[in-house]
Amino acid sequence: MGLERSNVDLTNLECLGMLLSRAAALYAVGRLRLHFTQKPGRINECAFVNGQDAPVGMRRDPIVITTGCRPSSHSNGYVLVDRDGVLNVAVANGYVTDPSMLHILPGAAEAVAELNRAGYGVIVISNQQCVGKGLFSRDGLRQITERLRDRIRDASGGEIDAFYYCPHLREERCACRKPSPGMIFAAQDRFGFDLAETPFIGDSYTDLETAKAAGTPAIFTLCGLEAERYHAGEPLPVASTPVVADLAEAVGHWLRRR
Ligand SMILES: [Mg+2]
Ligand SMILES: [Zn+2]
Repeated sequence: MGLERSNVDLTNLECLGMLLSRAAALYAVGRLRLHFTQKPGRINECAFVNGQDAPVGMRRDPIVITTGCRPSSHSNGYVLVDRDGVLNVAVANGYVTDPSMLHILPGAAEAVAELNRAGYGVIVISNQQCVGKGLFSRDGLRQITERLRDRIRDASGGEIDAFYYCPHLREERCACRKPSPGMIFAAQDRFGFDLAETPFIGDSYTDLETAKAAGTPAIFTLCGLEAERYHAGEPLPVASTPVVADLAEAVGHWLRRR
């Protein structure tokens, strides 16, 4: 299971903030043991351990739906994507709770296939509070997910490796609901990617805050529900975040970044 050691400079606030947010996220899903030995100004060893000995009451995990595609073909790693407003049309003030509400955005299926051809796996990171609210069952969420996977596959041959969903209510204060980075860390534990080399493509300011908290690069798409905030001049959480029209453009940006 995952074990990670890092050197943390306690005089660097950004670095310390990232450590604390990661520790809080792992603690809340019951998977953290922290050891540290301290020298003045530094934690010189800090280990995050995937433990089975965490108190059961602390566990509040995301829903993970994997699709059985083969990670070995992903020689260049992974790209994380939000679902509603990036892969499919987002529902204003609502949720996709019926197959008739699922509309793939133009170019999205082809963009997934393009990532696969370039050696990237694709992982979806999505809040679905509708489950916690009782508006939608876990079974229903699975059916929508399978339909989305099939539509993308049929349209382009593109494959999504896994879907991570936070089903919890905002008030539950779980570690997986975005902007907390818990789902990204859970995916990292399973798929073993390098956070600094794994972009999160999202259509909301919350997605960008999630990427910032996880320490991943972000790309902001204007095909969702928050383009208006951006056009009204609201600053992005990280000013240098690339802003693109849609997933296809985000993928082009990522593949040509060097
Ligand atoms: Mg979205
Ligand atoms: Zn959650």
